[in-house]
Amino acid sequence: MTAINVSGIAYTSALAAILAADDIEPGTDVSYQLCKLLWTCHPLGGKLVEKPITETTISQFIGWDSKGKPEFVRSRKALQYADSIDDYVATMIKDNNGGYANDWLIGDRKTGEIAYLELGLKHSPVWRKTDGYFVSSNFARDPSLIKDETESFDINDLGSSPNARRVRWEQLMKENKGRIDVPMAEQFLADHEDSFLKEKKADQRTLCGHADAAKEGIPVFDWPPFYPGGAVQGKATDSDMAEKMTLIAHAGHPCGDQARCAAASSGGSG
Ligand SMILES: [Zn+2]
Repeated sequence: MTAINVSGIAYTSALAAILAADDIEPGTDVSYQLCKLLWTCHPLGGKLVEKPITETTISQFIGWDSKGKPEFVRSRKALQYADSIDDYVATMIKDNNGGYANDWLIGDRKTGEIAYLELGLKHSPVWRKTDGYFVSSNFARDPSLIKDETESFDINDLGSSPNARRVRWEQLMKENKGRIDVPMAEQFLADHEDSFLKEKKADQRTLCGHADAAKEGIPVFDWPPFYPGGAVQGKATDSDMAEKMTLIAHAGHPCGDQARCAAASSGGSG
């Protein structure tokens, strides 16, 4: 590999080739591919390549510290500066204000490790694995956090959306362990199995998240009947795709049901 150095920053040969070519012309739009390459070479973009991260909201979370810092500040700082899962977790916990409380799924491409941070104010447990999986669907899993920091979230109510989706995720992980890839992830996101009713039905208890079809709404989210929320988009990636800053994304319900999701333009449950 060759490299050039501009203002003390080493660029890869791929970027050097782009900068030396005729692809960038003043007054013209640059391509998506070029933007992606430039972003990858940016320090923050490089970090995103190293550590793919996503989150799901913790249902019925009640903690709040007005003296803390908001999630978007801590998250942005962690994305750019954290060099490890430990760094990332420490940055997210420091000065947490409790707003937008999430379960954070963190991958480290350098070590092959994955982690799961359940970020409360009083409790912030972390689970880590080098072989295996974590699933998340708006449920809290730590008993102490559930007791002290939620409005009595009931993990035994298997008819509620977060718990029903958790059951379905666990079923799919068990059935497909060791052979999960991005095309299968796409199928999972479009899954219509209601684990509570034990039937195929596009509703709020499925991974495809048809909250807009739920006449009973989703009480743990305070969502009324037919609320325009749920899985309003789906995204999947793997380690190789993340290295290239790519992912598969679908706007609307991942099953392709655009008719009903057309109105579901807000309120994604994370
Ligand atoms: Zn669907």
